[in-house]
Amino acid sequence: MEKLNNIKQEWIENFDKPLIISGPCSAESEQQIINTAIKMDKSYIQVFRAGIWKPRTRANSFEGVGVIGLSWLNHVKNKTNMLIATEVANAQHVHDAIKHNVDILWIGARSTVNPFTVQEIANALEGTNKIILVKNPINPDLDLWIGALERLYNKNIKNLGVIHRGFSILYKNSKYRNQPYWKIALDFKEKYPNIPILCDPSHICGNRIGLFEIAKQAFKFNYNGLIIESHFDPDNALTDANQQITPEEVIKNLKLIYSKYKIKKNYISNIEYIRTYIDEIDQSILSIISERMLLSKKIGSLKKLSKVDILQINRWNKILLLLKKSGKSLGLSEIFIEKIFNLIHQESIKIQK
Ligand code: PEP
Ligand code: MN
Repeated sequence: MEKLNNIKQEWIENFDKPLIISGPCSAESEQQIINTAIKMDKSYIQVFRAGIWKPRTRANSFEGVGVIGLSWLNHVKNKTNMLIATEVANAQHVHDAIKHNVDILWIGARSTVNPFTVQEIANALEGTNKIILVKNPINPDLDLWIGALERLYNKNIKNLGVIHRGFSILYKNSKYRNQPYWKIALDFKEKYPNIPILCDPSHICGNRIGLFEIAKQAFKFNYNGLIIESHFDPDNALTDANQQITPEEVIKNLKLIYSKYKIKKNYISNIEYIRTYIDEIDQSILSIISERMLLSKKIGSLKKLSKVDILQINRWNKILLLLKKSGKSLGLSEIFIEKIFNLIHQESIKIQK
């Protein structure tokens, strides 16, 4: 029996350049998606995306226009000849999207985490020839991501791909909205080299600044393409305004990247692969230290109010002992732990003062 890791994904061969999916986070009005789509150069952006049903974190936010948006997407398709793509999160979405000839359906990060949801979608999609893309789950769990693909594959859904949109692992003070955690996506790629992988810089960055650094990195890792949010008037977007850019900006930056980088197989050396991982971990260490220092500042004011001494040597000695013990079990030397935490402690005392 053929297996998930050796079915050839021929659909990706139909795109001669990297596959670029772009369009607004949400379809807001027919005019908005038409205005956005007509700014797209089809030789760079082959697929138009727009969310119709939006999974919002907080209540009372704009939750998408619903089924009517699917007719608008079809107008875009007729006008521009681009393929169209949207997110589905339950069986009804699947039926509606298929009825309206959506070409590419993706499962969002908040759905991939839930096996019941994924199973419901897989059942509704049974036997389809549509291209189905699975975003990584919001938590850094490679098996959960693979599990979602297995559920689709078991329902005889063979045109598959994945989207790396980053992971929610740091609470605050992070450079990214979702940490890229490249290692997980690259582990996926190593296990399933046959399955096309796209990068979603928009939901990794959560802002407009770092988008093309992430995109470049993805191309260096030999990803098959990108899904990137664009809006003709990003500042006034109803969802994810901070991370959307205009289609012109998408195209301008893609041209720059394509002219500078030869996008070819195995571009990246092992050293570069590991360096990217190290850089990412260093950034996380910075975020965590900064969070630690913010707490120092807070406890500093509380100690002042309650007239408690800033330096509590007994508590510090106890903590250091514990840290050395945990460090040891993680393969870190006592001297190293002592040095690094003394530095952190000294800085913390300085801040508290
Ligand atoms: C989206 O693509 O607009 C979206 C909701 O993304 P994610 O599932 O990655 O959060
Ligand atoms: Mn979005």
